[in-house]
Amino acid sequence: MKADRLRRIAGTAMMLAVASTFSGFWNDASADTVVDDAALADPAQKDNWLAYGRDHSEQRFSPLDQINAENVGKTGLAWSLPLPEDRALVGTPLVVDGVLYFTGSYSVARAVDAKTGKLIWEYDPETLKHAGDRARMMWGWSRGLTFYKGKVIIATADGRLIALDAKTGSPVWTTQTFDPKLPLHISGAPKAFRDLVIIGNGGSEQGGGRGFITAYHVDTGKEAWKFYVVPGNPADGFEDKAQEMAAKTWTGEWWKIGGGGQTWNAFTYDAEYDQILIGTGNGGPWNQKLRSPQGGDNLFLCSIVALDAKTGSYKWHYQTTPGETWDYTSTMDIVLADLELKAGEGKKKVLMHAPKNGFFYVLDRKDGKLLSAEPIAKVTWATGIDMKTGRPIEAEGARYEGKPVTIYPSVFGAHSWHAMSYNPNTGLVYIPKMELATRWDDSTIDFNSWKKPSFQIDVGVDVGLGNDIPKDAGTSSLLAWDPVKQKKAWEIPQPNYWNAGTLTTAGNLVFQGQIDGKFAAYDARDGKELWAVNAGSGISAPPITYSVDGTQYVSVLVGFGGAAVAYGGGSSMAQYGWGYRAQQRQLLTFAVGADKPMPVVGERTFAKVLTPTDFTPDDKLVDKGQHVYKASCAWCHGAGAVSGGYTPDLRASEAVVHTEQFKTIVQGGALSTNGMPRFKNLSDDDLTALQNFIRKRALEAAQQPPSN
Ligand code: CA
Repeated sequence: MKADRLRRIAGTAMMLAVASTFSGFWNDASADTVVDDAALADPAQKDNWLAYGRDHSEQRFSPLDQINAENVGKTGLAWSLPLPEDRALVGTPLVVDGVLYFTGSYSVARAVDAKTGKLIWEYDPETLKHAGDRARMMWGWSRGLTFYKGKVIIATADGRLIALDAKTGSPVWTTQTFDPKLPLHISGAPKAFRDLVIIGNGGSEQGGGRGFITAYHVDTGKEAWKFYVVPGNPADGFEDKAQEMAAKTWTGEWWKIGGGGQTWNAFTYDAEYDQILIGTGNGGPWNQKLRSPQGGDNLFLCSIVALDAKTGSYKWHYQTTPGETWDYTSTMDIVLADLELKAGEGKKKVLMHAPKNGFFYVLDRKDGKLLSAEPIAKVTWATGIDMKTGRPIEAEGARYEGKPVTIYPSVFGAHSWHAMSYNPNTGLVYIPKMELATRWDDSTIDFNSWKKPSFQIDVGVDVGLGNDIPKDAGTSSLLAWDPVKQKKAWEIPQPNYWNAGTLTTAGNLVFQGQIDGKFAAYDARDGKELWAVNAGSGISAPPITYSVDGTQYVSVLVGFGGAAVAYGGGSSMAQYGWGYRAQQRQLLTFAVGADKPMPVVGERTFAKVLTPTDFTPDDKLVDKGQHVYKASCAWCHGAGAVSGGYTPDLRASEAVVHTEQFKTIVQGGALSTNGMPRFKNLSDDDLTALQNFIRKRALEAAQQPPSN
């Protein structure tokens, strides 16, 4: 990210130049939607996409049907917006009265004419500059923004919540949402409801401590309430009764060693019960034996917690993974619906949730009672959910006690934050599903000396991040799931894993982007592929649809990203050739009958590993280097030093070979404006060890037959 260039674009001259264009929208009598809770619940709001999941239900179902199963084959490109400075794009755009708003890399916010793609304003929150050295262990993608009563509210990775005037993009207020000394970061979209805006954060892998979520007043940015996911030290007293209850489910001194439960995604406002439903994260560290040595459920990790929307006080919870020890976060989207679960019993107000752990849950959202749960994927940590107790029936040995064990689903989950959608007409939920395992081994962990990390990755168990992830490590599919019968309706195999979130419409369609750059429409009833284009780069963001002046459009951000690309990486992600800055990022918008040519965005590129003949890695230094790499570099540069494309592949980096240059970059922060932060904590010896590890990995790659 070249921040200086973006600042120029967002400068005063640009704002004045576009002011006249913009006033055109607001002088239009039809263009005056007040986005409040009434609008967010109004079925007549079908032209707009007002919130993350389109409306408060988070269904990602659009009642628009101009594009439908009969004519979708005639869809073409209406307009595209090139995003040359962007990298990972994972966000959901919003559309209000013909203006499309979205956040790109590092939460740069933009408003564009939804009919033409013309830029109206751009606001750069200068995330990297604000983060400084804290940018290490911080990712730069953003899942989106929220719109409420004339304000667009964005969140930045360094922890700020910023309200912008929707007409001009000028900041109205800014609030820092966590102590900058903590290794926390934000990737999620804030959510506005009843004059409040809520945001959580991530960071349990880096020593983030107690998870929490905070609500602020939309008008002022002042804090309204805060809820802790994990209790503090009982000796200090508890914030509320819920914390006291939760503390009884922990053992040892969890407040010293971590806690976790960071809420980095999944905030759903349930207007019917005036409650906010939050999906909570995994434990910090992952290994429960360190975090809570005598076991316990460890509330409120991996749960759905219902809070009173006005006060933030606890109402009920349902824990999907008690005693979490596999990174099975429940931060996947929570979708509201009215379902008739048994014929003749009438419709129930339920929530639907498919967390990482592989099960699909239907809960009564009045009280959190479990109504049904079945596996959507291969699950080996549990054999099922006991409907009497609502608890999983754990498989023997799943907690990697005494010996390493391979468990399905993997740390990326059977389903991650890639949004699922629900179509009330077909009654089906469309889930980007993954099949992948993780091998768990804590035999090398010293339980006595282990300490909470800070701005370094240490999850208290070895999951093989020092090794490559093979090309064929996992599989995936687009799964149409019947939430009433709790069984598959249809399933379309897809490449690899980490395909994008879904959109479904009244036109009997499901739209979805893929890891290989394919963007396709399927018949929502049977999964038949009806239309597809090649977007020229991996797609990780979910599409939206909206209508302007009688024409329906479908938009999607194209820019490969997310944890599996950065923290995962490996040959599994590198095989597509979506190399670092190799393909220009873009926002694509389609309509029936449109026929603009697809933009040319760049050739596939594969890392050309360097194998200098004058460098022989030292085995002892390689071991140490692998340790340093896993703690400080793997978060962005990928498993086994094979980049998934989020960052340069270090095996191909000249800078790694040249010691002085390597120091200038790693210790001196020479590339900090590009997103490579300064690592003051790494010594010269650490760097020497890193060079040895990376060179060793390069030699190993060079010795393999050429593949990708
Ligand atoms: Ca996690």
